[in-house]
Amino acid sequence: MDQIREAILSGDRSIETYAGLAVPEAYRAATVHKDEVGIFEGMSTQEKDPRRSLHVEDVPVPELAPGEALVAVMASAINYNTVWTSIFEPVSTFGFLERYGRTSEFAERHDLPYHVVGSDLAGVVLRTGPGVTKWKPGTEVVAHCLSVELEDAEGHDDTMMDPQQRIWGFETNFGGLAELAVVKANQLMPKPAHLSWEEAASPGLVNSTAYRQLVSKNGAAMKLGDRVLVWGASGGLGSYATQMALAGGATPICVVSSPQKADICRSMGAELIIDRSAEDYRFWSEDGTEQNPNEWQRFGKRIRELTGGHDVDIVFEHPGRETFGASVYVARKGGTIVTCASTSGYMHEYDNRYLWMNLKRIVSSHFANYREAWEANDLVDRGIVHPTLSKTYRLEEVGQAALDVHRNAHQGKVGVLTLAPEAGLGVTDPEKRAGFESAINRFRDA
Ligand code: NAP
Repeated sequence: MDQIREAILSGDRSIETYAGLAVPEAYRAATVHKDEVGIFEGMSTQEKDPRRSLHVEDVPVPELAPGEALVAVMASAINYNTVWTSIFEPVSTFGFLERYGRTSEFAERHDLPYHVVGSDLAGVVLRTGPGVTKWKPGTEVVAHCLSVELEDAEGHDDTMMDPQQRIWGFETNFGGLAELAVVKANQLMPKPAHLSWEEAASPGLVNSTAYRQLVSKNGAAMKLGDRVLVWGASGGLGSYATQMALAGGATPICVVSSPQKADICRSMGAELIIDRSAEDYRFWSEDGTEQNPNEWQRFGKRIRELTGGHDVDIVFEHPGRETFGASVYVARKGGTIVTCASTSGYMHEYDNRYLWMNLKRIVSSHFANYREAWEANDLVDRGIVHPTLSKTYRLEEVGQAALDVHRNAHQGKVGVLTLAPEAGLGVTDPEKRAGFESAINRFRDA
C-alpha cells in the first residue's frame, strides 16, 4: 500500500505507473461485523455509540467484476447512512448484502460477515475490470454512490428507477471508508482540481442528493425567485441546498439550532435564518403522541415575518416525524414539500386538510441518477457550490467521526483521511483555488 500512496503523492499520473503497481492482497477498511448486530439491544438510538461497532481492520481485496474499477482512496467522508449502519438502525445492512449476494455470481462477493462502509471517495483509479473503456489507471476521481445493474427496462429513463438500484457502501460492500474501494465505472466523476482530497470527497452524496431533491425536475424543480425553507441548513444536505438556492436566485429560509450554525448560514450568503432552539418550537407534546398546530402557526408566522408576508414555495424536508406536520402546514398554497429522509422517525403525521385544500404536493426524492450527480459535481468543479468540510479525522478515528454526526455535534461535512497522510494535499490547480479559498474554508473557520 505504501507504493500506491507514494505514487499518488509523487504526482505521477501515467497509466503505465499505475498499471505497473502491484495490488496488495489486503487493505485497511472501516467495517461493521455481522456477529455484532445485537450489541446495542435495549439502548435508545442516542445511546448507541458508533465507536463500539465501527472497526478498522485489514480485509482481503476483492476481485474486480466487469464494468468495475478499483480505486485507491485518499479520503472519504461520513454520511448519515454510515451512522445508520453503525447503530444497526432501522435495520442491519447485512440484510441488504445477503439479498444482493443472491442476485448473481459477482454480487455474491458482497455477502460477507463484515461490511466495508462509506459512500464517498476521492482518489486515483488503480485498475479497471473488463469492459471499462472510459476510465484509466492514474485518473483522479471522485465517486457518486449510485450502484445500478440496468438489466431491466425500468431504469433506462432515470437510473434511480432501476429495480436493482442500491447505495454503494450502504446497500453494497467495499465502500469508501477504506484505503481501496470497488465501484462501478459509471460511478466515477472527475475530481475538481482546486480541492484537496478530503474536500473533494466531502460533497458527493449530499450534494447530489440536494441537487435532485431541490433543483432537478425529478425533485422540486426550484426556480428563480422561489422561497425555500431549508431544515438543517448548516448540516450535510442543508449546506448544499442553501448554496443551490442562493446560486439559483432563490431565497433560502435557513432553520438551524444554534447561533454558531446561524453564522455559518450567513457566511454562505443567507439572510433569513430561524434558530429553532432559541425559538423553542414544540411541534409535538412532551410524550410525543400529539402535534400542536399552534406551534405550526407560530413557526409559519415567523417565516412570514422574515419574508415580508410570504409563505414558502418549497420545503426541503429530511428531519421527518418531528417537523413534517409543520412543513406541510407552512408550504404556500400550491407549494411543494420535498422529502428524502426521516432522521427523527419515519412514521410521519400531518393534517391532510392543509395539503389537499391548498393543493400542495409531497414529492419524494432519493439520491440522484448519474447525470444529476455529474451536474452536481460540475457545480463544485466550477466553484458555484463549495465543499462544506468542517473537520477531518484519520481512518482510525472513524468511530468518533460517525459519533459527531450521530450526536449532531458537527457542521456541514466531516471528512476522513484514508491513504492521504495529512489534510490539504491533492490540489493541482492552486490558481483556480485562490479565488475560492475563503468560501472553501468557511465551515472550517466556524
Ligand atoms: P446532518 O449532517 O446530520 O444534518 C441534518 C441536520 O438536520 C442537522 O444538522 C440538524 O440541524 C437538522 N435536524 C436533525 N434533527 C432534527 C429535528 N428533529 N428537527 C429539526 N431539524 C433537525 O445529516 P444529513 O447528511 O443532512 O442527512 C440528513 C438525513 O437525510 C439523514 O437521515 C440521512 O440519512 C438522510 N439522507 C438521505 C439521502 C437520500 O438519498 N435519501 C441522502 C442523504 C441523506 P440543526 O440542529 O442545526 O437544526
